[in-house]
Amino acid sequence: MEVFDTAAGFSAALARARAHGQLVGLVPTMGALHAGHVSLIERAAAECDCVAVTIFVNPLQFADPSDIEHYPRTLRSDLVACEGAGAVVVFAPPVTEMYPDWPAPPATTVSVAGTHERFEARSRPGHFDGVATVVAKLFSIAGACRAYFGEKDFEQLAVVRTLVADLSLPVEVHGCPTVREPDGLALSSRNVRLSAGERAAAVVLSRALDVGVTAVAGGERSPGAVADAMAAVIGTEPLVALDYACAVDALTFAVPDKLGDSRPVRLLIAARVGPVRLIDNCAARSPKPPARASFVLVGADTASGGG
Ligand code: AMP
Repeated sequence: MEVFDTAAGFSAALARARAHGQLVGLVPTMGALHAGHVSLIERAAAECDCVAVTIFVNPLQFADPSDIEHYPRTLRSDLVACEGAGAVVVFAPPVTEMYPDWPAPPATTVSVAGTHERFEARSRPGHFDGVATVVAKLFSIAGACRAYFGEKDFEQLAVVRTLVADLSLPVEVHGCPTVREPDGLALSSRNVRLSAGERAAAVVLSRALDVGVTAVAGGERSPGAVADAMAAVIGTEPLVALDYACAVDALTFAVPDKLGDSRPVRLLIAARVGPVRLIDNCAARSPKPPARASFVLVGADTASGGG
Protein backbone atom coordinates (compact mmCIF):
# COMPACT_ATOMS: atom_id res chain seq x y z
CA MET A 1 0.00 0.00 0.00
CA GLU A 2 1.32 3.44 -0.93
CA VAL A 3 0.81 6.33 1.50
CA PHE A 4 1.04 9.93 0.25
CA ASP A 5 1.02 13.22 2.07
CA THR A 6 1.17 15.35 -1.08
CA ALA A 7 -1.68 15.95 -3.50
CA ALA A 8 0.71 15.63 -6.45
CA GLY A 9 1.91 12.15 -5.37
CA PHE A 10 -1.63 10.91 -4.69
CA SER A 11 -2.96 12.34 -7.95
CA ALA A 12 -0.15 10.75 -9.99
CA ALA A 13 -0.67 7.33 -8.36
CA LEU A 14 -4.36 7.31 -9.30
CA ALA A 15 -3.59 8.60 -12.81
CA ARG A 16 -1.17 5.67 -13.22
CA ALA A 17 -3.86 3.23 -12.09
CA ARG A 18 -6.33 4.65 -14.63
CA ALA A 19 -3.64 4.52 -17.35
CA HIS A 20 -3.46 0.76 -16.65
CA GLY A 21 -7.18 0.53 -17.23
CA GLN A 22 -8.07 0.32 -13.55
CA LEU A 23 -11.32 1.61 -12.04
CA VAL A 24 -10.48 3.81 -9.05
CA GLY A 25 -12.62 3.59 -5.90
CA LEU A 26 -12.30 6.50 -3.47
CA VAL A 27 -13.28 6.49 0.22
CA PRO A 28 -12.95 9.92 1.85
CA THR A 29 -12.68 9.79 5.67
CA MET A 30 -11.48 11.81 8.63
CA GLY A 31 -9.63 8.82 10.07
CA ALA A 32 -10.17 7.12 13.45
CA LEU A 33 -11.42 4.30 11.28
CA HIS A 34 -14.00 1.83 12.56
CA ALA A 35 -16.03 -1.00 11.05
CA GLY A 36 -18.30 1.52 9.27
CA HIS A 37 -15.37 2.97 7.34
CA VAL A 38 -14.02 -0.53 6.75
CA SER A 39 -17.34 -1.56 5.17
CA LEU A 40 -16.98 1.32 2.68
CA ILE A 41 -13.40 0.32 1.82
CA GLU A 42 -14.38 -3.35 1.43
CA ARG A 43 -17.30 -2.42 -0.82
CA ALA A 44 -14.97 -0.28 -2.95
CA ALA A 45 -12.46 -3.16 -3.07
CA ALA A 46 -15.20 -5.54 -4.23
CA GLU A 47 -16.29 -3.19 -7.03
CA CYS A 48 -13.10 -1.38 -8.10
CA ASP A 49 -9.54 -2.27 -9.13
CA CYS A 50 -7.65 0.39 -7.19
CA VAL A 51 -9.02 1.56 -3.83
CA ALA A 52 -7.84 4.86 -2.38
CA VAL A 53 -8.68 6.12 1.11
CA THR A 54 -8.22 9.72 2.15
CA ILE A 55 -7.65 10.55 5.80
CA PHE A 56 -8.00 14.23 6.58
CA VAL A 57 -9.63 15.94 9.56
CA ASN A 58 -11.00 18.87 7.61
CA PRO A 59 -10.88 22.01 9.80
CA LEU A 60 -13.20 23.85 7.39
CA GLN A 61 -16.19 21.75 8.43
CA PHE A 62 -15.83 22.21 12.21
CA ALA A 63 -17.51 25.21 13.80
CA ASP A 64 -16.83 24.01 17.33
CA PRO A 65 -13.10 24.34 18.22
CA SER A 66 -13.44 21.77 21.02
CA ASP A 67 -14.88 19.22 18.57
CA ILE A 68 -11.86 19.37 16.24
CA GLU A 69 -9.42 19.61 19.13
CA HIS A 70 -10.74 16.35 20.61
CA TYR A 71 -11.36 14.58 17.30
CA PRO A 72 -9.54 11.21 17.59
CA ARG A 73 -6.44 10.79 15.42
CA THR A 74 -5.13 7.25 15.01
CA LEU A 75 -3.14 7.25 11.75
CA ARG A 76 -1.05 4.16 12.54
CA SER A 77 -4.00 1.85 13.19
CA ASP A 78 -5.95 3.55 10.36
CA LEU A 79 -3.27 2.47 7.88
CA VAL A 80 -3.49 -1.11 9.15
CA ALA A 81 -7.28 -1.02 8.76
CA CYS A 82 -7.01 0.43 5.23
CA GLU A 83 -4.61 -2.26 4.08
CA GLY A 84 -6.65 -5.04 5.73
CA ALA A 85 -9.81 -3.85 3.96
CA GLY A 86 -8.17 -3.78 0.52
CA ALA A 87 -6.96 -0.20 0.01
CA VAL A 88 -3.82 0.16 -2.11
CA VAL A 89 -3.37 3.94 -1.87
CA VAL A 90 -3.83 6.30 1.09
CA PHE A 91 -3.74 10.10 1.04
CA ALA A 92 -3.15 11.59 4.50
CA PRO A 93 -2.16 15.22 3.94
CA PRO A 94 -1.23 17.83 6.56
CA VAL A 95 -3.60 20.81 6.76
CA THR A 96 -1.27 23.07 4.80
CA GLU A 97 -1.24 20.64 1.85
CA MET A 98 -5.00 21.16 1.49
CA TYR A 99 -5.18 24.80 2.65
CA PRO A 100 -1.74 26.44 2.17
CA ASP A 101 -2.73 29.65 4.00
CA TRP A 102 -4.37 27.91 6.96
CA PRO A 103 -5.63 29.19 9.45
CA ALA A 104 -6.85 31.52 6.72
CA PRO A 105 -9.50 29.60 4.75
CA PRO A 106 -9.10 29.22 0.98
CA ALA A 107 -10.42 32.09 -1.14
CA THR A 108 -12.60 29.70 -3.10
CA THR A 109 -15.15 27.61 -1.28
CA VAL A 110 -18.05 25.50 -2.52
CA SER A 111 -21.56 25.95 -1.22
CA VAL A 112 -24.45 23.65 -2.11
CA ALA A 113 -27.56 25.76 -1.62
CA GLY A 114 -31.22 24.85 -1.45
CA THR A 115 -32.96 21.85 -0.10
CA HIS A 116 -30.09 20.59 1.99
CA GLU A 117 -30.04 23.74 4.07
CA ARG A 118 -32.16 22.03 6.69
CA PHE A 119 -31.68 20.06 9.91
CA GLU A 120 -27.91 19.31 10.08
CA ALA A 121 -27.14 22.38 8.00
CA ARG A 122 -29.23 24.59 10.28
CA SER A 123 -27.75 23.07 13.42
CA ARG A 124 -24.17 23.42 12.13
CA PRO A 125 -23.91 26.63 10.08
CA GLY A 126 -21.10 26.46 7.52
CA HIS A 127 -20.58 22.72 8.07
CA PHE A 128 -21.72 21.57 4.63
CA ASP A 129 -19.78 24.36 2.88
CA GLY A 130 -16.68 22.92 4.55
CA VAL A 131 -17.66 19.40 3.51
CA ALA A 132 -18.49 20.42 -0.09
CA THR A 133 -15.22 22.34 -0.39
CA VAL A 134 -13.00 19.52 0.83
CA VAL A 135 -14.88 16.88 -1.18
CA ALA A 136 -14.63 19.00 -4.34
CA LYS A 137 -10.90 19.36 -3.72
CA LEU A 138 -10.43 15.62 -3.06
CA PHE A 139 -12.39 14.74 -6.21
CA SER A 140 -10.32 17.22 -8.20
CA ILE A 141 -7.06 15.74 -6.87
CA ALA A 142 -8.22 12.12 -7.31
CA GLY A 143 -9.70 12.46 -10.81
CA ALA A 144 -12.30 10.15 -12.34
CA CYS A 145 -13.47 7.56 -9.83
CA ARG A 146 -16.29 5.91 -7.96
CA ALA A 147 -16.67 7.46 -4.51
CA TYR A 148 -18.18 5.67 -1.52
CA PHE A 149 -20.04 7.53 1.24
CA GLY A 150 -22.04 6.27 4.22
CA GLU A 151 -25.79 6.73 4.60
CA LYS A 152 -24.92 7.38 8.25
CA ASP A 153 -24.37 11.00 7.15
CA PHE A 154 -27.50 11.13 5.04
CA GLU A 155 -27.59 14.88 4.38
CA GLN A 156 -23.88 14.83 3.55
CA LEU A 157 -24.51 12.10 0.98
CA ALA A 158 -27.23 14.26 -0.61
CA VAL A 159 -24.93 17.30 -0.63
CA VAL A 160 -22.17 15.29 -2.34
CA ARG A 161 -24.59 13.95 -4.97
CA THR A 162 -25.77 17.50 -5.74
CA LEU A 163 -22.19 18.79 -5.85
CA VAL A 164 -21.17 16.12 -8.38
CA ALA A 165 -24.24 16.68 -10.56
CA ASP A 166 -24.05 20.49 -10.51
CA LEU A 167 -20.31 20.68 -11.24
CA SER A 168 -20.36 17.74 -13.70
CA LEU A 169 -17.54 16.05 -11.79
CA PRO A 170 -16.31 12.72 -13.24
CA VAL A 171 -17.34 10.83 -10.11
CA GLU A 172 -19.99 8.16 -9.54
CA VAL A 173 -21.29 8.45 -5.97
CA HIS A 174 -22.33 5.28 -4.12
CA GLY A 175 -24.19 5.35 -0.79
CA CYS A 176 -23.52 2.50 1.67
CA PRO A 177 -25.65 1.29 4.62
CA THR A 178 -24.91 2.30 8.20
CA VAL A 179 -22.91 -0.17 10.28
CA ARG A 180 -24.13 -0.48 13.88
CA GLU A 181 -23.04 -1.93 17.19
CA PRO A 182 -24.98 -5.08 18.18
CA ASP A 183 -27.28 -2.94 20.37
CA GLY A 184 -28.10 -0.62 17.46
CA LEU A 185 -25.82 2.38 18.11
CA ALA A 186 -24.44 3.64 14.78
CA LEU A 187 -20.66 3.43 14.70
CA SER A 188 -19.02 6.85 14.83
CA SER A 189 -15.48 8.04 15.45
CA ARG A 190 -16.94 10.27 18.17
CA ASN A 191 -18.31 7.30 20.19
CA VAL A 192 -14.89 6.78 21.82
CA ARG A 193 -15.39 10.05 23.69
CA LEU A 194 -18.46 8.73 25.51
CA SER A 195 -18.17 7.54 29.13
CA ALA A 196 -19.56 4.08 29.91
CA GLY A 197 -22.82 5.65 31.11
CA GLU A 198 -23.11 7.92 28.08
CA ARG A 199 -22.33 5.02 25.77
CA ALA A 200 -25.18 3.02 27.33
CA ALA A 201 -27.51 6.04 27.03
CA ALA A 202 -26.56 6.74 23.38
CA VAL A 203 -28.42 3.65 22.20
CA VAL A 204 -31.61 5.66 22.72
CA LEU A 205 -31.04 7.31 19.29
CA SER A 206 -31.48 4.05 17.40
CA ARG A 207 -34.32 3.03 19.72
CA ALA A 208 -36.09 6.27 18.85
CA LEU A 209 -35.60 5.55 15.14
CA ASP A 210 -37.06 2.06 15.65
CA VAL A 211 -40.13 3.61 17.29
CA GLY A 212 -40.46 6.00 14.32
CA VAL A 213 -40.13 3.15 11.81
CA THR A 214 -42.79 1.13 13.66
CA ALA A 215 -45.16 4.13 13.75
CA VAL A 216 -44.79 4.76 10.00
CA ALA A 217 -45.13 1.03 9.23
CA GLY A 218 -48.26 0.99 11.39
CA GLY A 219 -49.86 3.63 9.19
CA GLU A 220 -49.02 6.88 11.03
CA ARG A 221 -49.18 9.52 8.30
CA SER A 222 -48.43 12.64 10.33
CA PRO A 223 -44.72 13.64 10.27
CA GLY A 224 -45.31 15.63 13.48
CA ALA A 225 -46.70 12.62 15.30
CA VAL A 226 -43.75 10.46 14.22
CA ALA A 227 -41.31 13.19 15.30
CA ASP A 228 -43.07 13.49 18.67
CA ALA A 229 -42.93 9.72 19.20
CA MET A 230 -39.17 9.71 18.53
CA ALA A 231 -38.62 12.77 20.75
CA ALA A 232 -40.55 11.08 23.57
CA VAL A 233 -38.16 8.11 23.47
CA ILE A 234 -35.14 10.44 23.62
CA GLY A 235 -36.84 12.23 26.51
CA THR A 236 -36.69 9.06 28.61
CA GLU A 237 -32.89 9.25 28.73
CA PRO A 238 -31.63 12.07 31.02
CA LEU A 239 -28.05 11.92 29.64
CA VAL A 240 -29.24 12.70 26.11
CA ALA A 241 -30.38 16.15 24.92
CA LEU A 242 -32.37 16.12 21.68
CA ASP A 243 -31.36 18.52 18.93
CA TYR A 244 -33.94 17.44 16.35
CA ALA A 245 -36.03 14.41 15.40
CA CYS A 246 -38.01 14.51 12.18
CA ALA A 247 -39.59 12.53 9.37
CA VAL A 248 -38.75 13.98 5.96
CA ASP A 249 -38.98 13.29 2.26
CA ALA A 250 -35.77 11.32 1.62
CA LEU A 251 -35.07 13.13 -1.64
CA THR A 252 -35.96 16.76 -0.89
CA PHE A 253 -35.56 16.82 2.93
CA ALA A 254 -38.87 18.69 3.09
CA VAL A 255 -41.34 17.74 5.80
CA PRO A 256 -44.33 16.50 3.79
CA ASP A 257 -47.95 17.19 4.75
CA LYS A 258 -48.55 13.46 4.92
CA LEU A 259 -46.15 10.53 4.95
CA GLY A 260 -46.39 7.64 2.56
CA ASP A 261 -47.73 9.33 -0.57
CA SER A 262 -45.47 7.12 -2.70
CA ARG A 263 -42.42 9.18 -1.69
CA PRO A 264 -39.52 7.63 0.27
CA VAL A 265 -39.42 8.69 3.93
CA ARG A 266 -36.29 9.22 6.02
CA LEU A 267 -36.20 9.61 9.78
CA LEU A 268 -33.42 11.90 11.01
CA ILE A 269 -32.23 12.40 14.55
CA ALA A 270 -29.49 14.43 16.25
CA ALA A 271 -28.74 14.66 19.95
CA ARG A 272 -26.03 15.68 22.33
CA VAL A 273 -24.70 12.92 24.58
CA GLY A 274 -22.18 14.22 27.12
CA PRO A 275 -19.36 15.90 25.21
CA VAL A 276 -20.42 14.85 21.71
CA ARG A 277 -23.21 15.40 19.25
CA LEU A 278 -24.43 12.23 17.54
CA ILE A 279 -26.57 11.84 14.43
CA ASP A 280 -28.43 8.87 13.05
CA ASN A 281 -31.10 8.18 10.44
CA CYS A 282 -32.97 5.40 8.71
CA ALA A 283 -35.56 4.72 6.04
CA ALA A 284 -39.22 4.25 7.02
CA ARG A 285 -41.90 2.59 4.92
CA SER A 286 -45.62 3.22 5.06
CA PRO A 287 -47.88 0.21 4.73
CA LYS A 288 -48.94 -0.48 1.17
CA PRO A 289 -52.46 0.81 0.51
CA PRO A 290 -54.89 -2.07 -0.16
CA ALA A 291 -54.77 -2.92 -3.86
CA ARG A 292 -57.78 -1.47 -5.69
CA ALA A 293 -59.65 -3.99 -7.83
CA SER A 294 -59.11 -3.18 -11.45
CA PHE A 295 -62.25 -5.05 -12.46
CA VAL A 296 -65.82 -5.23 -11.23
CA LEU A 297 -67.36 -8.56 -10.35
CA VAL A 298 -70.58 -8.92 -12.17
CA GLY A 299 -73.07 -11.16 -10.40
CA ALA A 300 -75.13 -13.76 -12.25
CA ASP A 301 -78.26 -11.62 -11.92
CA THR A 302 -76.62 -8.49 -13.28
CA ALA A 303 -74.92 -10.41 -16.08
CA SER A 304 -78.16 -11.80 -17.17
CA GLY A 305 -79.64 -8.36 -16.89
CA GLY A 306 -82.21 -9.96 -14.61
CA GLY A 307 -84.65 -8.06 -12.49
P1 AMP B 1 -16.03 10.39 8.68
O1 AMP B 1 -14.66 9.83 8.90
O2 AMP B 1 -16.87 10.45 9.88
O3 AMP B 1 -16.00 11.68 7.89
O4 AMP B 1 -16.75 9.35 7.73
C1 AMP B 1 -16.20 8.95 6.51
C2 AMP B 1 -17.22 8.15 5.74
O5 AMP B 1 -17.60 7.02 6.50
C3 AMP B 1 -18.50 8.96 5.47
O6 AMP B 1 -18.96 8.68 4.16
C4 AMP B 1 -19.45 8.44 6.52
O7 AMP B 1 -20.80 8.55 6.17
C5 AMP B 1 -19.01 6.98 6.60
N1 AMP B 1 -19.42 6.40 7.87
C6 AMP B 1 -19.25 6.91 9.12
N2 AMP B 1 -19.82 6.12 10.04
C7 AMP B 1 -20.38 5.08 9.37
C8 AMP B 1 -21.13 3.92 9.76
N3 AMP B 1 -21.42 3.68 11.04
N4 AMP B 1 -21.54 3.08 8.79
C9 AMP B 1 -21.26 3.32 7.48
N5 AMP B 1 -20.56 4.39 7.05
C10 AMP B 1 -20.13 5.26 7.98
